[in-house]
Amino acid sequence: NQMKSVRRDERSREAFEEAKQYIPGGVNSPVRAFKTVGLTPVYAERGEGSRLYDIDGNSFIDYVGSWGPLIMGHAHPKVVQALQETAARGTSFGAPTKIETEMAKLVVERVPSIDIVRMVNSGTEATMSAIRLARGYTKRNKILKFEGSYHGHGDSLLIKAGSGVATLGLPDSPGVPESIASNTITVPYNDLEAVKLAFERFGEDISCIIVEPVAGNMGVVPPQEGFLQGLRDVTSQYGALLIFDEVMTGFRVHMNCAQGRYGVTPDLTCLGKVIGGGLPVGAYGGKREIMEQIAPTGPIYQAGTLSGNPLAMVAGFTTLSLLTPEVYDRLETAAARLQAGFEQNAQEAGIPLTINRVGSMVCPFLTEGPVTNYDTAKLSDMERFKSYFGGMLNHGISVAPSPFEGMFVSAVHSDEDIDATIAAHREVMKSL
Ligand code: PMP
Repeated sequence: NQMKSVRRDERSREAFEEAKQYIPGGVNSPVRAFKTVGLTPVYAERGEGSRLYDIDGNSFIDYVGSWGPLIMGHAHPKVVQALQETAARGTSFGAPTKIETEMAKLVVERVPSIDIVRMVNSGTEATMSAIRLARGYTKRNKILKFEGSYHGHGDSLLIKAGSGVATLGLPDSPGVPESIASNTITVPYNDLEAVKLAFERFGEDISCIIVEPVAGNMGVVPPQEGFLQGLRDVTSQYGALLIFDEVMTGFRVHMNCAQGRYGVTPDLTCLGKVIGGGLPVGAYGGKREIMEQIAPTGPIYQAGTLSGNPLAMVAGFTTLSLLTPEVYDRLETAAARLQAGFEQNAQEAGIPLTINRVGSMVCPFLTEGPVTNYDTAKLSDMERFKSYFGGMLNHGISVAPSPFEGMFVSAVHSDEDIDATIAAHREVMKSL
């Protein structure tokens, strides 16, 4: 019985202890260690559709979805088949392959701002490369980002960062030279006035604004009316570039990404997660005139041994091909039902809860709200979050172990999955 199941974790505990001897903190990405929630990480054994199975024999309805990529669920049969066929013909060539062009064409077709696109291996690489390009193109050094936004772990971008940096409560990272940090200006998300003030002061030196068009690394925070257009206007006015970091939102919140959903067109766009279909991928693209400043057409350097890797390309291509308008309708409906159920549960239990949702990105903040930026996101009750998180796991629901990450609904979460999740949430709310 799903409702009464309590998570077993003996094998996961052993595996984690062993891992800690060989891997820093036992993990290859910090938040996976469940440090701030004080529990043993779930050791994945396999996934299928909406389900994640761990090495202790637990089964979870999974809303982490590998932190965003798995919009079609775990081990989608079409993706697996494409991977198997591709792998059998060789996994990497370091020479161009036709699937790279197919993939690029599809991205160009779907993403309004992208005329031409370069593939890399992670979201971090995409944002680092886009920033270098913006600096090289404008011949300016400063960048502007938002507090609580995460754009990967590039030096320039690890300032007042969200995601795991926020989860672990780390100050700006040691190892980032002051000379680099001093070129990053940070202002609160959704604060157009602060952006304008920064440009009045430093406008001639600012190469770009980089923004998550829906913030997803301080929990989920939608852009307020006029915010993205305001960023478009101020960057155009000062000759700076507007970069949308759509690593999380790209193909997640809309068939044409957040820029399609909100009707604002950046100069450059960073992609990752969904476009890799669960394999390591990132990409950056935009206006031809700007993008052709990168090598080999231009002098700004960026390269990669495994970039455009055939397995990653075919997994991404197959995933994007599955993403029809009907899929986005389905995501919207399922996620809206989840939101409504959670809101009712919290109200019945008398627990303060604010749910921010954009399409299939859903974030239940344990606070009265509204949550419009990092400062208000931080009002989420951390102690209560720990109990919530552990409770959800015990009821067979896997969510991110951090109040600064939303839930990702996939196209293969069934109505029954959503109902079971709402039922589990009801029990957890009552227990808080
Ligand atoms: N940008 C955004 C908006 C992200 O959400 C992330 C990852 N969560 C990144 C960049 C970094 O991507 P990666 O982890 O693939 O390096």
